[in-house]
Amino acid sequence: MKIAIPAESHPGEARVAASPDVVKAYIKKGAKVAVQSGAGLGSNISDDDFKAAGAEIVKGEAVVKDADIVLTIRRPGEKLLKAMKEGAIVAGGLEPYGDRKALEDFAKAGVTGFAMELMPRITRAQAMDILSSQANLAGYKAVIEAGAAFGRAFPMMMTAAGTVPAAKVFIMGVGVAGLQAIATARRLGAIVSATDVRKATEEQVKSLGAKFVYVDLAEAATAAGYARELTAEEKAKQAELVASHIKSQDVVITTALIPGRPAPTLITKEMVESMKPGSIIVDLAVERGGNCPLSKPDQIVEHKGVKIIGTLNLAGRLAGNATPLFAKNIANFLDLIIQKDGSLKIDEADECISGTLIAKGGKLVHKIYEAK
Ligand code: NAD
Repeated sequence: MKIAIPAESHPGEARVAASPDVVKAYIKKGAKVAVQSGAGLGSNISDDDFKAAGAEIVKGEAVVKDADIVLTIRRPGEKLLKAMKEGAIVAGGLEPYGDRKALEDFAKAGVTGFAMELMPRITRAQAMDILSSQANLAGYKAVIEAGAAFGRAFPMMMTAAGTVPAAKVFIMGVGVAGLQAIATARRLGAIVSATDVRKATEEQVKSLGAKFVYVDLAEAATAAGYARELTAEEKAKQAELVASHIKSQDVVITTALIPGRPAPTLITKEMVESMKPGSIIVDLAVERGGNCPLSKPDQIVEHKGVKIIGTLNLAGRLAGNATPLFAKNIANFLDLIIQKDGSLKIDEADECISGTLIAKGGKLVHKIYEAK
């Protein structure tokens, strides 16, 4: 059995879908592992590191030739797909809610695709959850980026020359990224507040020493553990509360997402204009349309003195951590597929398998692609 790890071709993508540690583990299971030359450089992993772990280093797309399993951070493009054998398993970040035509082309290549983003939110699946491992890093990095762009300090400092006030940081959306953002901002000494539409987050916010900004709504958590879209009336209620709170905040980090939907608008242009010049917004939802209509992918927009940071792929900017975690998530998933005797088994009765299987036999097969 051969496992291949191509270099990521997406501009600016520094991560790679395997680390030397997981390569060793795959080899122990009886696999042959091929890594594309240079694939690990963005994560400070050299070809020699992969070689020392037992991988064969291959130049270019030929790395996937005859591979039974191909591991990727992002959905492979046409050229790489062409180099794969029919029926190869492709596991990784496949952007399952992305462009439909590109997804159909992916399926047509005849590969068996597992989109790790669709991993069910069940306890057993936590170790395979790329959204969690990467969002945690992104939440941390969002605070660091905000701190770097903010022309003032986060902690309160009492000096002989006067007192530096603590920065006020507001986190909107308290999922995995939001929780880490709260913890990081608190460690830096900021006064932190946070809001979410899921009631369970109140306890979590308070336990991290932040203030919960509460919008009184009917339960907005779905059975899958995500948020549902709010009704127009609920949105208005939330907007009113946010508008009054945001005026006094120095830094706002937004992370609100609803699976399969555009990101909800949480900060309107008027709200941005109500903030003090020098304030910072980091919009982590920018990839899915943004929580602020002024944010632009991979740009820092300045609007009336407020900087809105829309940097994409913040986890990828911590590739030295993001790669080993992502790699381990996939390795844990492959444990379900690679049997003790080295054979491969796709057991669709397992919800972690059926929940992530998006392409098989030339077609998109996941329920998210069924006509509504
Ligand atoms: P996410 O990235 O989908 O969304 C981020 C946050 O935005 C969520 O907390 C969501 O409630 C919030 N949000 C959505 N709409 C909003 C709005 N209009 N206003 C304010 N906030 C809004 O979420 P996530 O980080 O993937 O986590 C979702 C939940 O799943 C969390 O409770 C997390 O702990 C849980 N989880 C469970 C597992 C597991 O058990 N395997 C793994 C990961 C996460």
